[in-house]
Amino acid sequence: MNKQQLEKVKSVVRNIPDFPVPGIQFKDLTTAFKDPEALQIMTDAMADLYRDKGVTRVVGIEARGFIGGAILATRLGAGFVPLRKPGKLPAEVIQKSYTKEYGTDTIEIHKDAITPDDIVVIHDDLLATGGTMLAAYELVKSMNPKKVYINFICDLADLHGRDVFPPDVEVTSLFTF
Ligand code: AMP
Repeated sequence: MNKQQLEKVKSVVRNIPDFPVPGIQFKDLTTAFKDPEALQIMTDAMADLYRDKGVTRVVGIEARGFIGGAILATRLGAGFVPLRKPGKLPAEVIQKSYTKEYGTDTIEIHKDAITPDDIVVIHDDLLATGGTMLAAYELVKSMNPKKVYINFICDLADLHGRDVFPPDVEVTSLFTF
């Protein structure tokens, strides 16, 4: 990964204080997605991380994880699987509830979306406490794929979200706040 280029991406992420609730410093990545150069840098950096790993499915977490997840899947020649809020997926699902930086939530995935032959990257835009991704990881793991990787565009160092994952899981993030 080219650190200098990723610093450029970081510099165009917009900070919104007190959104969606007081006390949260919300990292608005839409300002990085809309910047053609930043979008290209992020895409290249994600693809570089997983290029030789035989990835067959990228799982994107609703909603902001759909953007980078779909882009990454395309670059890797993998399929894309949405992980969604309850009641949105039309076929049979499995689900998991979890706590996040602000509030609690539930995520669902189609039962037939992942098979034991799959090598999976789970992608979300941002790692805060890690609650969302840990739930996603446990849900995907319960489907017994060959391997599961975890990827974020960025992470919030102060919240130590990386500590919630088992030590043997490879967790990557392009840059840190
Ligand atoms: P967590 O489960 O605490 O790691 O929260 C991660 C999820 O919530 C991601 O899907 C993020 O999009 C969103 N999120 C949490 N905190 C923030 C923040 N400070 N800025 C932007 N997104 C956030």
